[in-house]
Amino acid sequence: MIILRTPDVLVIGGGPAGLSAAVEAASFGCHVVVVNEDLALGGQLIKQTHKFFGSAAEHAGTRGVEIAKILIDELERFGDRVEVFTNCSALGYYRDGVVTCMVGEERYFKVKPKKVIVATGALEKLIPFPGNDLPGVYGAGAVQTLMNVYGVKPAKRVLMVGAGNIGLIVSYQLLQAGVDVAAIVEFAPKVGGYWVHAAKVRRLGVPIYLRHTVKRAIGENAVEGAVIQAVNEKGEFVGDERFIECDVICMAVGLTPTCELLWQAGCEMCYVPELAGHVAVRDRTMRTSRPDVWVAGDAAGIEEASTAMVEGRIAGLASAHSLGHVDEEAFKERLREYWRRLDVLRGGEAGSKARSGTFKVMIETWEERSVEVR
Ligand SMILES: Cc1cc2nc3c(=O)[nH]c(=O)nc-3n(C[C@H](O)[C@H](O)[C@H](O)COP(=O)(O)OP(=O)(O)OC[C@H]3O[C@@H](n4cnc5c(N)ncnc54)[C@H](O)[C@@H]3O)c2cc1C
Repeated sequence: MIILRTPDVLVIGGGPAGLSAAVEAASFGCHVVVVNEDLALGGQLIKQTHKFFGSAAEHAGTRGVEIAKILIDELERFGDRVEVFTNCSALGYYRDGVVTCMVGEERYFKVKPKKVIVATGALEKLIPFPGNDLPGVYGAGAVQTLMNVYGVKPAKRVLMVGAGNIGLIVSYQLLQAGVDVAAIVEFAPKVGGYWVHAAKVRRLGVPIYLRHTVKRAIGENAVEGAVIQAVNEKGEFVGDERFIECDVICMAVGLTPTCELLWQAGCEMCYVPELAGHVAVRDRTMRTSRPDVWVAGDAAGIEEASTAMVEGRIAGLASAHSLGHVDEEAFKERLREYWRRLDVLRGGEAGSKARSGTFKVMIETWEERSVEVR
């Protein structure tokens, strides 16, 4: 027999966005089900051993893995009101509002929630080059999982591809784990991550080759090295090839929102380069064009854990409000406060991309939009 769960709110994804959404909805008395594909709750946070930037209200200065514990503790305080399934993937969203889920590879069940919050995070991008299917070519997320979650040294010597924050932070973590980082190659003419991270790895003797990329991986049955070369502004190879000896090529070349369930739900989607892919059009409560579906975190556009947590809070609040659990004044006041925090997080030069991306994809209210369409 297939079990059917009928919670007030189903939260898909147990990273910082999903956990914050679940805490917020449960705090207003909603019965919440959280399904999380990974074995442990926390999403990206459980791999992050460094102290997070962001804002004090979102635990800036605390290590990512500790922030996950704080959020999980908050959630556990709600006892039976929140049911959590880990190692559990939401597989499909159906027209009748049923979401199908699978625990491991054996247990299949259905959820028919009143409201759904999609907080499925992001997927890693990869780049094509000859030999990129050899064992030893990894995404940075896999390297971090091996190293920081399972305590497995992933390599002896790594070539890192990408000098954004993820490439720089994972390089530093590799060095801390006793792995030699041969070099970092970066296609762009400048380092994309914060200088503080770049300075740390440079001080430890890791060269950063700007305007360079991997030309091919070398190896019979596994990676034994890589050929790198400079590129010009058109992306054409120029100059001499250079051989880098390594047993892992680690790709940290960007993330894209995990949005399959939103497509399946029939949400209006839009390609926004600043948010790194297709994202759902949403109102200021993170509600999508499907009135019962909200989105939060990296699934709504690639940003940071701090914005993911605030967006999760907004989605949790708004779903509880739509079920009549929050009075109008309290709802408006909290929403204002969460938007104040988002505006601070997206302020200044660092937030300009997120600001312009969200501006493109956010509408004031769906009611106004349908009036416009009519
Ligand atoms: C190396 C690195 C360093 C970072 N440093 C910082 C920092 O210093 N400060 C900062 O603010 N941010 C930082 N970030 C970014 C931050 O980790 C992410 O922005 C944040 O984790 C996004 O939260 P999320 O909840 O949207 O997604 P995630 O944390 O990715 O969580 C998504 C969850 O959804 C689950 N899931 C996905 N699909 C399904 C499905 N179909 N069914 C069920 N579950 C599903 C996944 O298993 C996962 O647990 C860093 C990220 C990385 C990789």
